[in-house]
Amino acid sequence: MKLVDQHSAEYIETSKKIWQFAEMGYHEEKSSALLQQDLKAAGFSLETGVAGEPTGFIATFGQGKPVIAILGEFDALPGLSQASVPDRSPVVSGAPGHGCGHNLLGSGAALAAVAVKDYMETNHVTGTLRYYGTPAEEGGSGKVYMIRAGVFRDVDVVLHWHPSNANSIQSGGMLAIVSARFTFHGVAAHAAISPDRGRSALDAIMLMGNGIEFMREHVPSTSRIHYIITNGGAAPNIVPDLATMELYARSPSLITLDNIWKRIEKIAEGAAMMTETTLETKIQSSDANIVGNDALAKVAQKNLEEVGGFTYTPAEAKFAQDLQKSLPPEFAGNLESTATVQPLKPYDPNMPSASTDVGDVSWNVPTIGFGAATFVPGVAAHSWQATACTGMSIGQRGMVIAAKALAITAEDLFSDPKLVSAARADFELKMKGKNYASQIPPNQTPPLDYRSH
Ligand SMILES: [Zn+2]
Ligand SMILES: [Zn+2]
Repeated sequence: MKLVDQHSAEYIETSKKIWQFAEMGYHEEKSSALLQQDLKAAGFSLETGVAGEPTGFIATFGQGKPVIAILGEFDALPGLSQASVPDRSPVVSGAPGHGCGHNLLGSGAALAAVAVKDYMETNHVTGTLRYYGTPAEEGGSGKVYMIRAGVFRDVDVVLHWHPSNANSIQSGGMLAIVSARFTFHGVAAHAAISPDRGRSALDAIMLMGNGIEFMREHVPSTSRIHYIITNGGAAPNIVPDLATMELYARSPSLITLDNIWKRIEKIAEGAAMMTETTLETKIQSSDANIVGNDALAKVAQKNLEEVGGFTYTPAEAKFAQDLQKSLPPEFAGNLESTATVQPLKPYDPNMPSASTDVGDVSWNVPTIGFGAATFVPGVAAHSWQATACTGMSIGQRGMVIAAKALAITAEDLFSDPKLVSAARADFELKMKGKNYASQIPPNQTPPLDYRSH
């Protein structure tokens, strides 16, 4: 923990720079280069452009077993540019911003890695420490292509963290997701003179939407299906020959989601058949739910409690209170909660949740995660309020908490082979009878332009 403190000022600076770069998925050139530069300077060797992802990299220190990996992310979200002030004030209107705090995520993970490397050197610890620079978490499934490239194959345990509004362990949970673009091709015609000669791609979209709505009753109630129409035709007097829907489907279980997804594909095919249009389906992303690990969760909980939370300075408390004024009063959480660590809770599929490509890693390697209180209590990820927090001291202090918890957990794994094998045993147990498969077609390459269409 002392080693983390020694390096924290440097990585807070890195987190501020990445916050300012605010680069979106697969375009995180400056953010990735900065982290690479920091880790190289600290003595890690670099492998860049991993898995056909120009901004993906692996930084390695040491050799032999065990292989302990820490995940880093650094992509921003569209439209969430926001200054670190408690009222809505974009730095650049409409520009991307770090509303998920991945500037802190990538920098905090690097801070942990550098501290663990110092510890390994001083104490002559054998084993391999890796930092995975993983691009495009937000809708690009960057880690799925890395898994396919085999770069996690020899890893014993993966550690990760995510900005949050509480200090807690993240073992299991999150929703499996598949997202796709459905494009229907019809025949254009004058909508008044010769509608009989047209075949409407928009009709197909609307029938597909209806099919989804009727199916919604007959899927488990923890499922989520949401869609938008990104192209519905050019003008009312032209039968649309092109229409596009983007759709996400989610479920707490990857296996359940696979079944729902097959039904969604049938609905799309049915809509094309009914309207005599043709269908083109492009899978955009696919993330698995996170497989928990009880052996790792126990140790992680103990370690996070050892690190403890933090109390706001008077200036931070003032910022937090002002920021909470922008939230509905029932959501404004208790500011004192950042000083505490949440008890370890069993996974509840009814808890509101999102999705992450960390899930895919957890289907392949024993994985454990931390949440740290980087967002003012009550602030949700993917909001301008979250961007405000991740660019200032509240977010940065949470990042240091996470780095310490990651670092001392890595220390435990390097010094206790029994913990590594217990993590493996729990993983085998959880994966019994399950096979990992992603909906992303096997020959698909990373969608480097997915944010620009
Ligand atoms: Zn996010
Ligand atoms: Zn995130």
